[in-house]
Amino acid sequence: MRNFDYTRAADPAQAINFHAQLPSSYLAGGTTLLDLMKIDVMRPQRVVDVNRLPLNKIEPLTDGRLRIGAMVTNTALANDAKIISDYPVLSQALLSGATTQLRNKATTAGNVMQRVRCGYFRDGVSPCNKREPHSGCAAVGGQNRSVHAVLGTTDHCIASHPSDMCVAMAAIGATIHVQGPRGERDINFLDFHLLPGNTPWQEHALQNDELITHIVLDRPIAGSKSGYLKLRDRASYQFALASSAIIVATEGGVIKDARIALGGVATKPWRASNAEAALIGQQPTLENFQRVAMIAMQGAIPYKHNAYKIPLGQQAIVRNLQTLFA
Ligand code: SF4
Repeated sequence: MRNFDYTRAADPAQAINFHAQLPSSYLAGGTTLLDLMKIDVMRPQRVVDVNRLPLNKIEPLTDGRLRIGAMVTNTALANDAKIISDYPVLSQALLSGATTQLRNKATTAGNVMQRVRCGYFRDGVSPCNKREPHSGCAAVGGQNRSVHAVLGTTDHCIASHPSDMCVAMAAIGATIHVQGPRGERDINFLDFHLLPGNTPWQEHALQNDELITHIVLDRPIAGSKSGYLKLRDRASYQFALASSAIIVATEGGVIKDARIALGGVATKPWRASNAEAALIGQQPTLENFQRVAMIAMQGAIPYKHNAYKIPLGQQAIVRNLQTLFA
């Protein structure tokens, strides 16, 4: 590991000021940053420890939305009574991720900012546009079975986004609030993570000198039910091969509202708006679920080892819907 400067911030303004003095990485739970520093993939000159920032509260807003502080741990969020009652899909997604020990340390903002699990990104030597811009993508012609996407890819990068929590937030709808030297601003959650395009090293809409302070969840849909289904190689401590976060509400035996987001199959938390539109106004039948799942995966591009993700992504939707309507 290389030498680096370490400093601890007491509030967001101080953290931002430290960053302005010397380009820094923010250290929250450290479950991504420290791993990547140890293998020399991330090389910050300075680490600003944000663990003492007063951003660890979950607070209902007067308009019915819910504000989650950036430093709320994944464990605290998953077990919060309001999350369990109003946003069960989020609690389920969080509890399906990583291990208890990791969830105890991992934070809400850190989860949003986590890096891809592509082995070529992490080996430090292979061509990888995310690690070394313009160096190429070893995964396109290499091993691309498990943590590589079929939706939202380009030949510049095919790494899937690794988060479960973000898939649930994409379905719920949320706003990311950030603070920086130029003030504060909101970013729609669906606009935060960027598709790789020609510039896969640009992963999100956050500017280098900005800090996430909290995330606000949209109001829950009245009378809805929701669930997260994660399909993976083994039952715990494993990333999704395909996952779905689904929220549905019915009226008179017909689906009147639907939110569908996918994980494991796409380069960012993937909101399947086309599938939602096809489900609304329909009866909850297996035939409709299968038709909607096909629509959700339209445009998917398989690579050498991951063509199975197209039917698996469809199954993640069909099975989740079957469970919700059982
Ligand atoms: Fe790098 Fe993305 Fe290619 Fe993996 S898939 S080697 S992260 S550019």
